[in-house]
Amino acid sequence: MPGQHLTFRDKPINLNERGGRKWVYAKKPTGKWWARRSIVAYLLLAFLVAVPFIRINGNPLILIDIASRKFIIFGAIFWAQDTFILALLMLSFVLFVVLFTVTFGRLWCGWTCPQTIFLEMVFRRIEYLVEGDYRERLKLDNSPWTANKIFKKTLKHSIFILIAMAMTNVFLMWFIGSDRWLTRIQEPVRDHFSGFLAMILVSAVFYWIYSFFREQICTMVCPYGRMQGVLLDSKTIMVAYDYVRGEPRGPKSKGDCIDCKQCLSVCPTGIDIRNGTQLECVNCTACIDQCNHVMKSVGKAPGLIRYASEASIKGGHSKVWNARNRAYSVVLLIIFSFFIYTLVTRPEIETTILRTPGLIYQEQDSTFSNVYNIKIVNKTHDEIPLELRVLSHNGKIQMASSDMTIMDQSKFESTFILYIPKNEIRSDKTGVKFGIFSENKLIETYQTTFVGP
Ligand code: SF4
Ligand code: SF4
Repeated sequence: MPGQHLTFRDKPINLNERGGRKWVYAKKPTGKWWARRSIVAYLLLAFLVAVPFIRINGNPLILIDIASRKFIIFGAIFWAQDTFILALLMLSFVLFVVLFTVTFGRLWCGWTCPQTIFLEMVFRRIEYLVEGDYRERLKLDNSPWTANKIFKKTLKHSIFILIAMAMTNVFLMWFIGSDRWLTRIQEPVRDHFSGFLAMILVSAVFYWIYSFFREQICTMVCPYGRMQGVLLDSKTIMVAYDYVRGEPRGPKSKGDCIDCKQCLSVCPTGIDIRNGTQLECVNCTACIDQCNHVMKSVGKAPGLIRYASEASIKGGHSKVWNARNRAYSVVLLIIFSFFIYTLVTRPEIETTILRTPGLIYQEQDSTFSNVYNIKIVNKTHDEIPLELRVLSHNGKIQMASSDMTIMDQSKFESTFILYIPKNEIRSDKTGVKFGIFSENKLIETYQTTFVGP
């Protein structure tokens, strides 16, 4: 690329000559794209906080209850038995991200990634408020520890700690639900001491990331950022510098770039977009706004840095759709349709009956017996009275629990003994068939084995 400064590849921009951390003092962005991103970010933050409190048929909108192996997505409950459906959903999501990245680059990073939203729209905004814009912050950091500096640093870090703790609590609600969270915070700490320690640890990690580690998550840790090299092509739309129009750069040169370096000053990862697509660019659009301000002040058209593909900059307009993203779309459509099909057709009552591990048969006067564990998941929104019968033999069932009524969207687990007359058992392993009835109507059957002598 003409005008490219190749020394940028020599070392990461946020490391100094001795390999130490070079702090990025990003200027506060202003402009059309910053305003749009702010709206999207605050809507997403509101969604994040509201989700545990929004109810559909009494269930939270989203719940990731790993301990009970129960997931709720938009009010629909998925149990461990639905792992296949969840795997399809995850696969659809991954493909969607890939397709989206191929076509629209790192739109996810700049607009919706929680790391970017929390860092740019929450923590950095507080920093701007308490310590001022980049020049004031640089001056403050390089100044001796006066009362003013101690006050500002204490205030900023205290707010950061409070927000990190609030974030941890919001995320916890996504995992245990707002009701259980509310109950837990009213109970003595000693009742949940290990959970309390985990909360402190997670809050400390959040605080450390947003106070100190910051953009290094995107430039050094995030695997999605590393995938860009294989996902992006010359037709991918991303934040790009129009080198055809901008070069040769300089205050008095022919190109439109006056080399003011204002685009660098706002970059939260500290890079120069004029060097072309870089792993560190999170497509935050701050440099678009800043360059547009510069173009306006020198009387030139905006858009020297803009959303564009390499192909469109090099040779005029190009189509967004190409063979690669068409192929991804077809695969995505097939997997997503299959997911919808399995979701719609999944059984509303799901039964698992397994012989209790470690136990063999018992012998009575005229019968043999086996002990079984039964688990029934009720995925409907109704309370269902159930009854278990053996269909294949003239057997008798003795349940450990007398009542088999299952509440809506919940699970029934129990043990029972199956007695089968001796004359019906002719081998050491006999197939048995159970029927699950509700109000005398057969709703499900289940086959398993019965061990005998
Ligand atoms: S802000 Fe625009 S004009 Fe200034 S250096 Fe960056 S690209 Fe060039
Ligand atoms: S180069 Fe521009 S879009 Fe990329 S991270 Fe820096 S400011 Fe954001």
